[in-house]
Amino acid sequence: MKLDKKHQHQLKLCISTRCNFCRRACPIYEVSGMEFDSPRAWLEVINEAIEGRVDSLEIMSLLNKCTLCRKCVGACPHGIETPEIILDFKSRIRGEYIPEPIEILDKKGEIEVDREYRIKVAYPWIYVKNFILNANPLGEKPKKEGLIADADFVFFPGCITNYKDKEVYEACVKFFKKVGAKYSVINACCYSELKPLGFSVDEIRRLFEKRHPHLRGMKIVTPCAGCYHTLKEDHKLNVMHISELIYQHKNKIKRGIEGEVTLHDPCKLGRYHGKFQQSREIIQQTGAKLVELRQNKKESHCCGGGGSLKYYYPQMQENVCENLIKLNEKKATIVTNCSYCKQTINKNTKQKAKHLIELI
Ligand code: SF4
Ligand code: SF4
Repeated sequence: MKLDKKHQHQLKLCISTRCNFCRRACPIYEVSGMEFDSPRAWLEVINEAIEGRVDSLEIMSLLNKCTLCRKCVGACPHGIETPEIILDFKSRIRGEYIPEPIEILDKKGEIEVDREYRIKVAYPWIYVKNFILNANPLGEKPKKEGLIADADFVFFPGCITNYKDKEVYEACVKFFKKVGAKYSVINACCYSELKPLGFSVDEIRRLFEKRHPHLRGMKIVTPCAGCYHTLKEDHKLNVMHISELIYQHKNKIKRGIEGEVTLHDPCKLGRYHGKFQQSREIIQQTGAKLVELRQNKKESHCCGGGGSLKYYYPQMQENVCENLIKLNEKKATIVTNCSYCKQTINKNTKQKAKHLIELI
């Protein structure tokens, strides 16, 4: 088995360097303190598996800890893309556990018994099954979609906003009304959660397009940083994060928020796409005093919501999230730009984070 050329080259470069600059950047190493919970160690075990010295199943329990936050990439002098290498490796061995996704979709979730043990050990099977049966990780019944012909854009709330966060959903709708926008709604999953389960970008794109062939060419607006990244990078769609839409209408924002507000930059919007400034200007426009977390922008601390961590290591996720909260030294109101980050912070800590749209 081989990774793609770029990842294979990066892997060898790291193995010959082993400088470990990435370790201190990693939120998992920060909570664990153990050498085997670090980017360099995970690259090392991937190399061992590729060269046939360890079973790929044996190392899944380590790789499933990565939140895909990409902080290690900025810390590495060679820019080695550890999260992408991990996803590449997982996608190449997935066939050993889960067969062709279209095939399982067609069989409505049935799977051969002899594969079931390995799948259960390597993957959170319940989530895979939810995707297969309901096309989302939460197991919720798909909602009706409302496409209208002359809409300005398609509103893509994403699973968390759609099924778990009425406040964010309603705040988005209220904002669209306020700015006079005409919109359609797609209550669907972007399929990003399938990637840490070992599905390749090509596979998730194919699955997504099969369900939503009409989205190509349309303008999409989403309040979720994870959906934004996946729709843009993986599905190559024309997507805008809701903070960009708010920014376009920032003269309509009423001042009236008092006190100190701090912004958590979601990894998938900030570090992945460099979107930092507009949200800060929006917060200032509300009248609130913007104060920064001790680590912010490119150095932002992950909330722990990405990758497979939440499925396998909930305690570790809680500890990662607590470390993020500790950076709020001024105890300001925490605002984030992502429905998933908001949910992760509110589930794991005593803080009540808000989504940026809830300030408007
Ligand atoms: S900083 Fe880069 S080269 Fe050094 S150990 Fe980490 S990934 Fe490898
Ligand atoms: S992406 Fe984040 S969690 Fe994964 S190895 Fe890099 S720093 Fe650690």
